[in-house]
Amino acid sequence: MEFQWCNKAFTRITGYEEHEALGQRGTILIGADLEQGIHLYIIEKLMNWENFSTKALNNRKNGETYWQRMSWTHLSDPETGNHWWLCSIIELEEERAEPTKPEVLDASVPDQESYERAVEKVHRLEKENVRLHRLARSVAKDANEDALTGLSNRRHFEVELKTWIENLKEHGAEFAVLYIDLDRFKFVNDTLGHDAGDRLLVSVAKMLKELTEKSDLVARLGGDEYVVLKPLGKSALNVSSLADEIVQRMQAPFSFDGKSTACSASVGVAIAKASMANPEQVVADADAALYHAKDQGKGRWSFFTEEMHAKSISTKQLASDLLLACERREFIPYFQPLIDARTGRIAYAEMLVRWCHPTKGILAPAAFLDTAAQIGILKRIDEIIFASVHGALTHLDEAGVDLPRVAVNVSAARLADPTFIHDIKSSGIAPERLTVEILESVYLDRMGDVVRWTIDELDELGVGIALDDFGTGHASVSGLLEIRPSILKIDRHFIQPIVENPSSRRLAASIIGIGKSLDMQVVAEGVETEEHAQLACEMGCDYLQGFYFGKPMSEDNLRDTLIENRGDFWSGGAQSTAVRSVGKAG
Ligand code: C2E
Ligand code: CA
Ligand code: CA
Repeated sequence: MEFQWCNKAFTRITGYEEHEALGQRGTILIGADLEQGIHLYIIEKLMNWENFSTKALNNRKNGETYWQRMSWTHLSDPETGNHWWLCSIIELEEERAEPTKPEVLDASVPDQESYERAVEKVHRLEKENVRLHRLARSVAKDANEDALTGLSNRRHFEVELKTWIENLKEHGAEFAVLYIDLDRFKFVNDTLGHDAGDRLLVSVAKMLKELTEKSDLVARLGGDEYVVLKPLGKSALNVSSLADEIVQRMQAPFSFDGKSTACSASVGVAIAKASMANPEQVVADADAALYHAKDQGKGRWSFFTEEMHAKSISTKQLASDLLLACERREFIPYFQPLIDARTGRIAYAEMLVRWCHPTKGILAPAAFLDTAAQIGILKRIDEIIFASVHGALTHLDEAGVDLPRVAVNVSAARLADPTFIHDIKSSGIAPERLTVEILESVYLDRMGDVVRWTIDELDELGVGIALDDFGTGHASVSGLLEIRPSILKIDRHFIQPIVENPSSRRLAASIIGIGKSLDMQVVAEGVETEEHAQLACEMGCDYLQGFYFGKPMSEDNLRDTLIENRGDFWSGGAQSTAVRSVGKAG
């Protein structure tokens, strides 16, 4: 403890002038003859921040000792977390002649044992004091500081942002916002553990501190999101080179405990200009630019443009329309037939969702699924269409139309959702009439136990499992080995060129070979002509799907088609003895 303040009476009693005392440690006043016991008592009270009062023998500046009564009062400032002791002293004239023992403790000469106990106690108290001190400091900083990285936290960032915007409005002080997001943080966390994740976050914070200047504000907004506010100098060059540098540095591998992994970052940049009507928008602009950088392939930065602004507005509109669409249950199932290549008959139908939009008509998934996934409503859409699929199967059965199975598409994220199995069970669809087509299976390997469990549960229930889009990069060989689906779907981009292009044909053949060698049934997607159908069939595909046999259609359309053709779509199958000729399927 140091002296922070003293008054004239203090100088009169102790002999120390104010300038001599301030900044000195309180121990300059402790008398050489102060009893051990009373000394410990004082330390204990001080360390525990307990107010107290005692008599003690003190030193004056000239070495003289004197008795005083001291009253200690603990003061603190909740705003800053600073603590003080206010000590008022009264000199006890009458004690001068005949010093009395302090009344607070038994001051008899301590024996060895109690001395050791006392030393131990001081030791403990000192430790406690260090802890309290840290606590006090952290309480003060907590308000503004991110505990993990020491950067500003979201709260402090928001306060600062207001100030920067006021400065912009009043003094034209323009600034840049850099919104930074790690591309594979979840992966690092999941594979290397949370300690590694924390370490990564701290190292990013350090890197940002290194690359920025004192006048910049660096904050961690939570998770793996950071933001930098940077005053705009004469050129915007220093902003772009900062964004560049951040992206570059994050390309370097991150290592932890001898393991190393890549975790790039994406950055969105926007400028708050004096001419802007609504500069508060600048952080949302940077966020939109960040989104764009991610969309363009991550590990890069991008600058906010007006088009992004338009896009972010329309995405918001779409998101709110989608929420309404869930309320109104505007999602309906369409069905596309899959043909057994041997018999030419319908094997099953793939359900493809459509949004029956009140003004825009029937919308394909590309128009809304990404946004739906982002706002987390795939589960609700699934509930709506699963119920309709159940209804459709019942209606078809009642009409005496044979549709053995239906396949539904399931995103990787939904497989990692522990409620998915419940949703399947409560859909009412008989499990043996259901196949699940797994999308983006490349993401599955990092999703861990829930996915594994979900897949095992599906298997147990008797639900078929298909791997979708094989060959696109959305589906991986490792996913294939992990999931062991009974059906492998070859993406239409491999099937479509097989008629014209022999090397595409060889590629398709080798992809089909992978599935066959693992005893899987193979589906050729994108069969648009008789030649496609013939070739795919000759190459060993078990099922054929594509516009040649039928586009995705409504339940009513499917029923009418199946009644009309009695489930027979193709006469050119492997069992067909007919001369193969190009012609319309019967
Ligand atoms: P996918 O699972 O690969 O579905 C096949 C897509 O290819 C469908 O597009 C289908 O209309 C189209 N297609 C079928 N045959 C042909 C053909 O011969 N030529 C061409 N050019 N295209 C053909 P759609 O209906 O637009 O669905 C697109 C994607 O949306 C689907 O791709 C699937 O990934 C996703 N999707 C559809 N329904 C759902 C759903 O309910 N949930 C989820 N999570 N995703 C869905
Ligand atoms: Ca599919
Ligand atoms: Ca597909």
